[in-house]
Amino acid sequence: MKNRSFIPDITLIVAVGVLLSFSRPVMWGFYGHKLINRMAVFTLPPELIGFYKKHIEYITEHAVDPDKRRYATKHEGPRHFIDIDHWDKIPFDNVPRDFEEAIIQHCSVKLVFGQDSVYFNKEIKNDSIFLKTPYLGGIYLTIDYPTFVKYWKKVIKPLYYDDQWRLSGYDFDELFGTTYFQKNKVDILIEDHFSEYGIVPYQLEMSLSRLTYAFEQKDKSAILRLSTEFGHYIGDAHVPLHTTKNYNGQLSNQNGIHAFWESRIPELFAERNFDFFVGKAEYVENPKDYIWDIIIKAHSHLDSVLAIELRLSKTFDSDKQYCYDERLGRTVRLECPEYAEAYMNAMGSMVEEQMRSSIIAVGSLIYTAWVNAGQPVLDFEEDFELVPELIIPDKNVKTRAHE
Ligand SMILES: [Zn+2]
Repeated sequence: MKNRSFIPDITLIVAVGVLLSFSRPVMWGFYGHKLINRMAVFTLPPELIGFYKKHIEYITEHAVDPDKRRYATKHEGPRHFIDIDHWDKIPFDNVPRDFEEAIIQHCSVKLVFGQDSVYFNKEIKNDSIFLKTPYLGGIYLTIDYPTFVKYWKKVIKPLYYDDQWRLSGYDFDELFGTTYFQKNKVDILIEDHFSEYGIVPYQLEMSLSRLTYAFEQKDKSAILRLSTEFGHYIGDAHVPLHTTKNYNGQLSNQNGIHAFWESRIPELFAERNFDFFVGKAEYVENPKDYIWDIIIKAHSHLDSVLAIELRLSKTFDSDKQYCYDERLGRTVRLECPEYAEAYMNAMGSMVEEQMRSSIIAVGSLIYTAWVNAGQPVLDFEEDFELVPELIIPDKNVKTRAHE
């Protein structure tokens, strides 16, 4: 079944799910991502479906590329989650919906002079930002917040992937209308304390705008690659355990619950029990709200995800909870099918619903990018060169057990 060909009949959607089971997932979580990307193709409108169907194998197989990339660059990991309970409670009014503003709120600003440095005391209130320090004879700076944000987007945002966000004194003098920094040879170092807790909602917005641009350019290679990755991040944003600092149950003595919820249950039951007739992709009028609703909804399931497993682990016959299975020549300890089924049923249709929502969201956001790009006509018969991405693991990159 390796070289399966595409089945164009929409009534055979369920069969697509069945076909997937023949390609054994090589890692946890892969099965669900592949299934979501594959099924999302069938939600697309007639103008797009031809192109996506033609490349459905790519969209399916490469659905997991972003997870592989987590081992190649430190910037990849945070794109897959947000520990939003580190910042706030639902509806997360204290978490800025604008990525740059979120970083501004949670960054530190340091003055560097020679070998020494001192932190500014930063405060944002009454639509102004205040930077103060009693050192160096006392420095007090203030500027209205929107001007600072604008400046940040122009000067500091482009440094995002640099190891250090360092500005020369000239930059700060220009911003605050001073001469102090340049005259005293003081540089500014900004430290991001936000991104490490995850950036998935912002990543979805970035993916949407990059895909929109690819559609505008009719760059088919980029359209395919970005759509595929977009599908991955959208899928991740639907997983309750991708929205919490207790992402693997490590804070509630439920280690392994991440894979139990997002891998074990779909692998065992998705194709047999889940209904993947999700309807048609719809244009998303307000992507920011749509994306944040995904995060809020996913996070609203978190208490049940944890509490139900905890209750079940205490009531379910303890020697029927874990079974042993052969995977890639290794014996692995996994939740037994009966235990997994009990967990899934106790959660109602949550796992299925989150998977269905992922599928429709992938289709809808791809469709939205295309509409916003002016509905370009894609000649899907015409060939193009798809340059595969080379992902080289870097052992210095630290990753979470499950992201
Ligand atoms: Zn991921």
